[in-house]
Amino acid sequence: MSVYRDAAVVLGSYKFGEADRVVVLLTQNYGKVRAVAKGIRKTKSSIGARLEPMSHVDVSLRTGRDLDTIDQVRLIEPLQVLRSDFDRLRQGLSMVEAVNKITPDREPVPHLFEVLTRALHFLNQQSSPLLLASFFWRLISLEGGTPQLDECVDCNERENLCYFDVQQGGVHCGACRSGVPISESAIEILRWILGGRMNEALALEESIPVHEVNRLAMEAMEAHLERRLKSLGVFDRHL
Ligand SMILES: [Zn+2]
Repeated sequence: MSVYRDAAVVLGSYKFGEADRVVVLLTQNYGKVRAVAKGIRKTKSSIGARLEPMSHVDVSLRTGRDLDTIDQVRLIEPLQVLRSDFDRLRQGLSMVEAVNKITPDREPVPHLFEVLTRALHFLNQQSSPLLLASFFWRLISLEGGTPQLDECVDCNERENLCYFDVQQGGVHCGACRSGVPISESAIEILRWILGGRMNEALALEESIPVHEVNRLAMEAMEAHLERRLKSLGVFDRHL
């Protein structure tokens, strides 16, 4: 048995045996790891509070045959504001849930870890009508699904782009029309999110284009999750 230590974000947990829980962690260097927190359900131990979903922790783990065991946990960043605001809490939980669903065990995903910790940190400090949508677009993009925004998916036309097709992953011109109508401003916001101008996107207030980007993000994430689960071939009952 060996002991290792890493930074991690808690993605979720489920009951295990009489008094334990298996905590699903996205670690910075080892990817998604499932580890047993022993006795966590029996005592009113403070370790339980540190292992709530979304917690950003520094964790010591002991390797086991099937599951690792959690030795020690230290909170890196308490997310008090996030946890006390219902809407932000909902957004944060949607983020960790999506990450949990698309990430296979034990496959290092350091970029995803960084995007997730940044998003949770941002959400704890301030709110933005585009944070969850931006996070979903980044997530899809990290997985190789960056939408095509500069030319029509079908005919490569670069003008009159006014439809977005989630299944095909990109914009369509007025002639090829497929998917749902999208405004020029919404396409521009998508370019900001995916093209390194995230801060500008996050500073936007509620508006119709912002709403369009949000709605498309939810749809795109759903389609992506479906594809991902199909490609994994199995549905994990612990998701
Ligand atoms: Zn076209």
